Amino acid sequence: MPAQVIPGNEIAQRIRGQVASEAQALAAGQHTVKLVAVQVGTHPSSAVYVKAQERACSKAGFAYELLTLPSDAGEPEIRGALSRLNADPAVTGIILQLPLPSGIDVRKVQAVIDPRKDVEGVHPANMGTIVYGRPVLAPCTALAVMECFAYTGVDPRGKEVVMVGHSDIVGKPVALLFLDRFATVTVCHIGTSERGHLEEHVRNAEVLIVAVGKANLIPGFWVREGAIVIDVGINRVGDTIVGDVEYAQARERASFITPVPGGVGAVTTAILLRNLVTAARLQSETTC
Ligand code: NAD
Repeated sequence: MPAQVIPGNEIAQRIRGQVASEAQALAAGQHTVKLVAVQVGTHPSSAVYVKAQERACSKAGFAYELLTLPSDAGEPEIRGALSRLNADPAVTGIILQLPLPSGIDVRKVQAVIDPRKDVEGVHPANMGTIVYGRPVLAPCTALAVMECFAYTGVDPRGKEVVMVGHSDIVGKPVALLFLDRFATVTVCHIGTSERGHLEEHVRNAEVLIVAVGKANLIPGFWVREGAIVIDVGINRVGDTIVGDVEYAQARERASFITPVPGGVGAVTTAILLRNLVTAARLQSETTC
């Protein structure tokens, strides 16, 4: 029997409903929600994200502002802009759009953002809460993976979870979040592939999460019978968008699978809104 498709759009809709009631509670206490995205210069790649953020905020009734710094802005200017946004009580969420000009230390600049306004969960303090098993504002995509997994109703305790990809915003936090739920977690990456060991790990996965960015990297026949497959990859192939897992064949073997598009990506945007209201609530609690 083909896998059940994990409906990203439906999950996102449910989260947006929760966000709306939280936002109402905040509004009742005279607390408004505003997201500011900071970009340095303009980039065709981030233009898509900026549009999506703006649309999501406007649908949810949140204020949104895009602050564009000159393309030759240096670290002091970027830090200065972030510090001003930190100090502005009307701003409840800050996103620093990537890429930054070459030579700028992204992690150092991200660390300037007030952790309570860090809706992308990239500040070291927020990353640290994941290690301690107490995430407050965690990276949106990692949380979206966990929401897609939660849809299956499966208890991860003792399950063989294989995370392919070890980026700071997806692979590493996802691995820690599953570890915290007592899964047996294996993290694979380019080094695993270079030694020719990727297939053996993937074949062992009861829960397979892939965040690499290579179209159809995982052939469907590698997927273990009955596995849960969560595909984070977004790859443009001609006119279509595909994931990192060869979908048609994987669906024949898995028990649950996320589609691309309409899977993790759809949920990620809703999580950004959830983080935004969480951030606004954190600030309202400390200013009352
Ligand atoms: P990244 O580019 O920072 O890291 C890629 C990871 O893949 C690294 O761990 C690298 O070692 C590993 N890798 C590269 N080649 C490999 C190979 N042949 N075999 C095994 N591992 C290999 O990754 P990222 O920023 O996490 O993005 C990964 C993918 O997820 C991209 O397609 C990106 O567009 C997508 N993405 C989607 C969302 C969403 O909301 N759905 C959000 C963020 C990223």
